[in-house]
Amino acid sequence: MSTTEAAERHEFQAEVSRLLAMMVRSVYSETEIFLRELVSNASDACDRLRYQALTDPALLAGDPELAITLRLDAAARTLTVSDNGIGMNRDDLIANLGTIARSGTAAFVEQLSGDSRKDVSLIGQFGVGFYSAFMVADRVEVISRRAGEEQAWKWSSDGQGAYTVEPAERAGRGTDIVLHVREGEDEYLDAHRLRHIVATYSDHIAFPIRLVEVKDGAAAEPEAVNRGSALWTRPKAEIGEEQYTAFYRHAGHAFDAPALTLHYRAEGTIDYTALLFVPGERPLDLFDPARKPRVKLYVKRVFITDDTEALIPGYLRFLRGVVDSEDLPLNVSREMLQNNPVVGRMRRAITGRVVSALEAKAKDDPEGFETIWGNFGAVIKEGLYEDGERRGALLKLARFRSTHGDGWTGLADYAARMKEGQEAIYYVSAADPEAARRSPHLEGFAARGVEVLLLTDPVDDFWLSMVREHDGKPFRSVTRGGADLSRLGAPEGKAEAPAEVGLATLTAALKEALGEAVKDVRATDRLTDSAVCLVADEGDMDLNLQRLLKQHNQLRFEAARILEINPRHKLIAALAARAEQPGAIEALRDPALLLLDQARILEGELPADPAAFARRLSELMAKGLA
Ligand code: ADP
Repeated sequence: MSTTEAAERHEFQAEVSRLLAMMVRSVYSETEIFLRELVSNASDACDRLRYQALTDPALLAGDPELAITLRLDAAARTLTVSDNGIGMNRDDLIANLGTIARSGTAAFVEQLSGDSRKDVSLIGQFGVGFYSAFMVADRVEVISRRAGEEQAWKWSSDGQGAYTVEPAERAGRGTDIVLHVREGEDEYLDAHRLRHIVATYSDHIAFPIRLVEVKDGAAAEPEAVNRGSALWTRPKAEIGEEQYTAFYRHAGHAFDAPALTLHYRAEGTIDYTALLFVPGERPLDLFDPARKPRVKLYVKRVFITDDTEALIPGYLRFLRGVVDSEDLPLNVSREMLQNNPVVGRMRRAITGRVVSALEAKAKDDPEGFETIWGNFGAVIKEGLYEDGERRGALLKLARFRSTHGDGWTGLADYAARMKEGQEAIYYVSAADPEAARRSPHLEGFAARGVEVLLLTDPVDDFWLSMVREHDGKPFRSVTRGGADLSRLGAPEGKAEAPAEVGLATLTAALKEALGEAVKDVRATDRLTDSAVCLVADEGDMDLNLQRLLKQHNQLRFEAARILEINPRHKLIAALAARAEQPGAIEALRDPALLLLDQARILEGELPADPAAFARRLSELMAKGLA
């Protein structure tokens, strides 16, 4: 390539270089997706221009029909993807085609391992947009002129660490992406092949896509290669699953297949069409603190924005797709959406439809629904405290891990398995399922065959602080309050008789020794194998929530906990016997502190004073061995 003196050379951002190195090595076998990516970008560019032209019609001047052209010149070995959309100026080119622009892609690059097998599957999941052009081209030129500006610019690179930008000529606004097709990739110089790729991936694109073949230096008549009508406006019966999937990938910047597709037209008080998808996999930005939904809002086929917080509740932010309103004014500004009553009504209606679709899925395809729940349940549960109106419906949808087997369970199934005399829905909340299953608090419940839900999402503690009951049955933490286990009958199987002699004296001695470190010491039915555990008092905050808030420095007041002792445990029985002997208070001081530390360790915490703990333990072991 000849670079004029005006060409400035720029290095790619390091992440882009890494990405390009992979593209150039062509580790990903489905190279054809480059065309989908470039057509998708061209379509977005047309959407953005049309939106801006609503307030500034002069931008469309002289060239009102938005379209995408593929120009194939096999002799010159070039394929050019052109659009007359928004275009890019010099700064746009540098910002968009030299760095990682999209947050999803940035997260993707962070996950790259350098191990090409793993990285390839990541590309399949997340795609790489514009940069995929380098899978099939050894040089890419972008000639672009931003709508409303006079100067055009040329960006050029061979994908090896750097690119150049220089002034250029272009007849009107828009962008040409010129691919110099690499040796060995000749299939992309074949018109049949290109038609087929467009039909596979881009038929749903709402702008006309035309193919122009250049033969012997002369351009043939443009030939339409897609249908050019917005997919969501077509009747459902005419749309195949592959078309839905292709559209989902385009609209959601996604690379998986949707787990659920919801396509309907609402007419009556509000008139809109929705084509929404639940992704098959978790998008990388699912837990982004901004909690932004990415559904696209159109008004009468004109793209308005994908900043749709006003339209989609945060707890459904994993949805992808489009909503096209017939009622909103075309000049609705993004800012106006927030307080617009029509948008508010659409939001309620859409939320209702999505929740119903999830209910239907749960009924008709329980396994498919469980996969959705596994991916998005932690987000949907935010609705339990945000959306009072749908709390009941969401609780019915909710699935939990429980001590009943390894699968998911719903609350109705839990209720059906409740024991005679059991009035509450028991749960334990912990950082992860293993920690939950290990919790000593479960022992008494397990021994009586009482099922306990294992809650391991941080959001659980928050909705549980607002949602007190389901179907008349209160939720009760197994780490809080009196466990009322005695009402649930005796433990199944053989159990040691509880120590009676000295238990009251022991309890008093432990209280004396531990002082302010605990709120109380008491005997419990909660345990079978462990000697001790910690619980929160009835009115106090659940232990896991306290830990969670403490990690985030948000715990204002740490309530002292109750130390419970297991009267059936042989250590407690021995200590109880010792409590009846003279000098008990003194003799029980160290064991008391060790018991408390042991209970802390069972909670996954450190002993209050690890050095003192180690010293006491060593002394005791020495005594035991002497
Ligand atoms: P993505 O499209 O996912 O944002 P890309 O790497 O494909 O990521 O593109 C980066 C950015 O470059 C786009 O967000 C867009 O701003 C700009 N861009 C790409 N192609 C075009 C085009 N044909 N017209 C205008 N802008 C474009």
